[in-house]
Amino acid sequence: MSNEKKSESVTVAVIGAGSVGIAVAYYLVKEHKVKNVVLIDPRDPMSLTSAQSGENYRNWWPHPVMTAFTNHGIDLLEQIDKESAGRINMTRGGYALVTRRSNPEDLIQDLYRGYGDGPGIIRIRDALTGDYDAPLRSPWSSAPDGVDVLTNQELIRQTFPSYAPDVAAVIHIRRAGSISAQQLGQYMLEQIKAEGGRLIRAEVKAITGQSPFTLELSSDSGTTTIQADRIVNAAGPFLRDIGAMLGEDIPVKCVYQQKIAFQDREGAIPRNMPFTIDLDGQTLAWSDEDREILDSDPASRHLVSPMNGGIHCRPDGAVDGTWIKLGWAFNDAESDPHSEAPVDPQYPDTVLRGASRLNPKLANYIGRLPRGAHHYGGYYTMTEENWPLIGQSKTSGSFIAGALSGYGSMAATCTGALCAAAVVGAPVPVYAKQLGFERYDDHELMAQLASQSKGAL
Ligand SMILES: Cc1cc2nc3c(=O)[nH]c(=O)nc-3n(C[C@H](O)[C@H](O)[C@H](O)COP(=O)(O)OP(=O)(O)OC[C@H]3O[C@@H](n4cnc5c(N)ncnc54)[C@H](O)[C@@H]3O)c2cc1C
Repeated sequence: MSNEKKSESVTVAVIGAGSVGIAVAYYLVKEHKVKNVVLIDPRDPMSLTSAQSGENYRNWWPHPVMTAFTNHGIDLLEQIDKESAGRINMTRGGYALVTRRSNPEDLIQDLYRGYGDGPGIIRIRDALTGDYDAPLRSPWSSAPDGVDVLTNQELIRQTFPSYAPDVAAVIHIRRAGSISAQQLGQYMLEQIKAEGGRLIRAEVKAITGQSPFTLELSSDSGTTTIQADRIVNAAGPFLRDIGAMLGEDIPVKCVYQQKIAFQDREGAIPRNMPFTIDLDGQTLAWSDEDREILDSDPASRHLVSPMNGGIHCRPDGAVDGTWIKLGWAFNDAESDPHSEAPVDPQYPDTVLRGASRLNPKLANYIGRLPRGAHHYGGYYTMTEENWPLIGQSKTSGSFIAGALSGYGSMAATCTGALCAAAVVGAPVPVYAKQLGFERYDDHELMAQLASQSKGAL
């Protein structure tokens, strides 16, 4: 990709070269054959939030709009996996949602709300017999669709022997698994380049005018300007900054979330275990002395209080590999993305303690995490209702693609496709209307979203 030229005019300037901006540029050039598209970013492509992703995908959402959105995204991922001869390493072991409640009727109702009640989509497995497939990490093309709800304890024990014995129900979402988001971004960048699109290594400092917009760019070689007929705000945690340059207030916040990854030398996690989420809240177990110390400090008091569920764990990399990843998005405090990242040094210990409730062998690593373990994090840039913002912005000629919280790797494709269609004025699926600013005028929908779970895993 070449570096910037001075004072040029482009058709579309996409601000931000993370998963989302790259996908918008990809669908502009590939699907709509738009010429003269540039991606603008001072950082290496895919190096900010997109580098921190757990790279999981699922079509599980308790609302049909988000189910349609992620199903669309997964269709496009499959298409890319096929045409790139498996470049994005798409696996499909599913998501296993685990609870100790033997009759999780509310969760089953959520499934019907998201997936509808078509025949055979939601399969209740309350007997040991039946045609339930073991959760092997099969290629996506041969994996089943729909959801298996396991309520038979013996079936759970046989299928997931590593889980703690108190698990009473497992909801196995089948259209779910992992991808290599980095490979996806790389593949799209190559295609963008092949179609004549370019990357400009600079930061957008100001935007003036309107169709064409004048963008002031700052880079190591100084300040320049560029004219763009249309602009797309795909600035991830900095969506608000670009919005402010247009005089718009973008209703998003940034919440820092973390993960750890390490070599599972003791084989605590079976390599064919699906991405597993412990849905149940818990209060972590501590010695009396530790509890007293933690309770005495306001910064650590949350560790002795009841904590939300949502701890997740999965084998990482190849089936014959040894690394695992753990995460727990319990933080809900908003941060300023311009400040230093609020890394929690206690996090690796916290997530290990929490995760060992469901995966008891992980307790062996408490206080002795293997050397070389990674502890990392990034911002979930999210709206209050945790739905994305995709499509036309308030300023004519400007568009937005962002607020993808903890699902922007899996939804980059559909976000890119929807936003690119909006930019060129092409039709979009019906559900897309509710993913842009228009939804804030739909008071019924907003009230409904305010009353349901946000799905921030
Ligand atoms: C810990 C963690 C785990 C996650 N796990 C998953 C997962 O398992 N599955 C999943 O689907 N998603 C996951 N996500 C979410 C996913 O990573 C994000 O939704 C996605 O990466 C967001 O992409 P983006 O392009 O919007 O933002 P970013 O990747 O942050 O890209 C934004 C880009 O905009 C650029 N930019 C900002 N301001 C300017 C400016 N003024 N001028 C020019 N460029 C600018 C930045 O430099 C940056 O490169 C996870 C996120 C985190 C933090």
